[in-house]
Formats: sequence, C-alpha cells, structure tokens
Amino acid sequence: MLHKKDDVREMLEDAIYASSDLSVSMPKFKMPEKEHDPRHAFRVVVDELMLDGNSRQNLATFCQTWAEPEIHEIMDLTIDKNMIDKDEYPQTAELEARCVHILADLWNSPDAANTLGTSTTGSSEAAMLGGMALLWKWRERQKAAGKPTDKPNIVTGPVQICWHKFTRYWDIEHREIPMEGDRLIMTAEEVLKRCDENTIGVVPTLGVTFTGQYEPVKEVSDALDKLEEDTGLNIPMHVDGASGGFLAPFCYPELKWDFRLPRVKSINTSGHKFGLAPLGVGWVVWRDIEDLPEDLIFYVNYLGGNMPTFALNFSRPGGQIVAQYYNFLRLGKEGYRKIQQACYDTAMYLADEIGKLEPFEILYDGDPHHGIPALAWKLKEGVDHGFTLFDLADRLRTRGWLVPAYTMPANRQDLAVQRILVRHGFSRDLASLLMDDYRDAVNHFVKHPVTTPLSEEEAGSFKH
Ligand SMILES: *Cc1c(COP(=O)(O)O)cnc(C)c1O
Repeated sequence: MLHKKDDVREMLEDAIYASSDLSVSMPKFKMPEKEHDPRHAFRVVVDELMLDGNSRQNLATFCQTWAEPEIHEIMDLTIDKNMIDKDEYPQTAELEARCVHILADLWNSPDAANTLGTSTTGSSEAAMLGGMALLWKWRERQKAAGKPTDKPNIVTGPVQICWHKFTRYWDIEHREIPMEGDRLIMTAEEVLKRCDENTIGVVPTLGVTFTGQYEPVKEVSDALDKLEEDTGLNIPMHVDGASGGFLAPFCYPELKWDFRLPRVKSINTSGHKFGLAPLGVGWVVWRDIEDLPEDLIFYVNYLGGNMPTFALNFSRPGGQIVAQYYNFLRLGKEGYRKIQQACYDTAMYLADEIGKLEPFEILYDGDPHHGIPALAWKLKEGVDHGFTLFDLADRLRTRGWLVPAYTMPANRQDLAVQRILVRHGFSRDLASLLMDDYRDAVNHFVKHPVTTPLSEEEAGSFKH
C-alpha cells in the first residue's frame, strides 16, 4: 500500500512513543552516555514543557506572551546575530542606536539626536546602569567639594527587586519609603525627609510592581527644585519606567514624568513588557551625554573597529532589538496607543466587575491617569469571608489562570492583595471568561468555606 509522505511521517511519529528511547524514562540529572534521535529527544523535551503553565493565562507577568507572526520570523532570521559584534553586524548596531533615539524623542529629550543610551537584557540591567551613573556622578560632585564618598544613599518608593540588588551589590544605603495605611507609593514629602548630601539620586517608579500605580514624578521633581533653592543641594532623578515608559507617552501624554523635567537624568524601560518586543530586551537612556560618566564606557578593539560599550553583559541576542525596531515602524504611535488603550479598557472592565462582587475592594482600577493596565484589589476588611485571596488564587489554577495573591512589603505586610496585569493578547473575550471563572471560584467558597485557609507560603507567591 502506498503512503503519502506526510502519512509516513505521521506513522513514524506515532511509533516514537513506543521507541526504545521513549518507552523508558530519560536520564534527568546526568548527561546520557549516548546520543539520541533528534525526534525522540525533541518529543521528550517538548512534552515536558506541556507541564508549564499556559503563558497567555499568566496574569502575573508584565512580560509579553503574544507576538505577531512577523516577530517570530524576525527572531528566526536573527538567531545568529550577536549584538555585541557591532563591527560584524553594523546594521543591527544601527537599529539599536535608532531605537535609543526614538525612545529619547518619545520621552521628550531636549536633544534626542545627541542622547546616549543602550539596549540591555531588561529593566534590571538598565536600572543597574542608571544607578551606577548616579553613583559615579555623585562621587564626582563630592570629590569636587572635598567631601567624603563612603556613605552613598538612594531614595525610592516600594521598588521592584532590581533596586534591592543594585543597592546591595554596590553597597549603597537604600532609603526605601515604606507604605503607610492607604499610601502605597512615594510622596514628595516622604522623599524630602530622606534626602541629604549623600543622596546619589531619587528613583520614582512609573508603574509600581505591587499595585501598578504611577509615583508622582513631577511633584517629587518640584520638591527637589525647592530643596535646591533652599539649601543648594542638587539631587538628580532616575525614573524606573519599566512599564510606564511605554504607556504614558501614548495613553497619557500630558503627564510630565520624563525629560521634560530637567531633573530627570535617565530613564529605564523594558522592551519586553509594554514595548511589545520578545523577552530579553530593555533600554536605558540618559538625558545628556554629560549625565553618563565617561569612566563607565569601555572600548573594545578585538571584534574589529573600536567600539564603545557600557552594558554589563557582553554577548547578547540581537533579535529582540531588531524586533523592537520592527514594532516602532510597524505600529507607530497610533498602533501603540490602540494596543495599550485596549489593555487599559479591559483592565477597567475587570476592575468594574470585580468591584461589583461583595467581598472585594478595588485598590487600583487601571485608570491610565494613575498607572498601568492592571488592577489590584483586597478582601474587605473586618469581615470573615470564609476564604483568603490565596485560596482564590489556588482555585483559579484549576482552570489554568494564574492570578497572583501576595502580601505587601513594609509597612503593610498585613495587607494581602490580588493583581491582574492586562497585556496585548488578553482579549476582552478572555477577560469575560476569566470573570466567569472568578465568580465560580468565589461561589465555590461561599458554599464550601475553608476551615484552614491557605497561607501565602503554601500558595506560593508570584511577584514579578
Ligand atoms: C519588571 C520591572 C523591573 C525589572 O525589569 P526586567 O525587564 O524584568 O528586568 C524593574 N522595575 C519595575 C518597576 C518593573 O516593573
């Protein structure tokens, strides 16, 4: 009997699971002695990935989980491009430089053509570079004034973990403004209380991890202007715009948080969050060449040419950068605005629906004037609900939804919240299906109250 080529292939694949490789358990913690058929090894690995969660149902992550087919093709075409080989791949280097200028322009740099910046692996590396520039600049100021440089501090609100890494790795005192009562972000007043001549900079976050809210960048900048007038202390700012850097310019362009404020010396953002690029790219841009100490730039001559580099990593994939540039061209401001606004609309829809349910109180509702396309809520206080947010998060997992529940950092460790991040690809339709499951989960606990509610540790926590 004759088979078409595809039929034969299918038969072979059917037999894969009966093969000598797949009818036994593969070694897991030791390299096997012998090689395996690529199709067998492929199935073993890909099947294992089946046990991962479905990324599109992961409402905890800020990172992209959906991309157009063209992005997949770009990533395939650029798999061999190492972005550090700027002499070998000058056009990829050119696209990176263009992205930096495009971002500088988007963030209202007074001289976008002459700003400096770089791609990174994400906001963590970008924040590290921004922080280092602040540290170096502060040392210069102190030395010039004949003052000591051994006690640097930095002032932030409740920050993402990358800033804890930065302060610990660089031995900098972290003056992190704790949450108090209903105040879950920094205020100008709280910032001023913590500034002195050893403050290397103040870092507001545009889209705080815990709730999604924007910190008041302009108010802080104004307060620091006043401080300078009164005392002569000139304290620079870096904005952590990991999410907000790709949101405010499109959905709330009037918000002054960027280089329109002269005190803002540098900004980081995550290309792989609302920049809509695939995982593995971030950006940091300085306001002025002056703001990036020359001392942090290295020149390498062994790749051909004499190329400046000032990132922490060396070899890095170039595809994400190319995809970022593609997005800029493909979407333009109009496309970004449409996508981000659709996310905001869905976040506000969800906040509305969850707010209607008896047990919950919304803490942040996805309003583009106050934060990112996300929502956060808590259980109403002073009521025994018969379940916790950790029970709810656990129950939702039975339908594949990952809706993280976690407790806040200092001084609101007593406050547990649940949060949803709305990203491109989480359609209104999916959101309404999630709401059905959410109501079902709540009703389940109303009918079957838990006697021993899950703790945060038992439920696992999914902060990002
Ligand atoms: C995600 C995030 C970071 C870290 O960014 P990565 O791109 O994941 O390295 C830093 N700060 C804030 C506010 C974030 O949301």
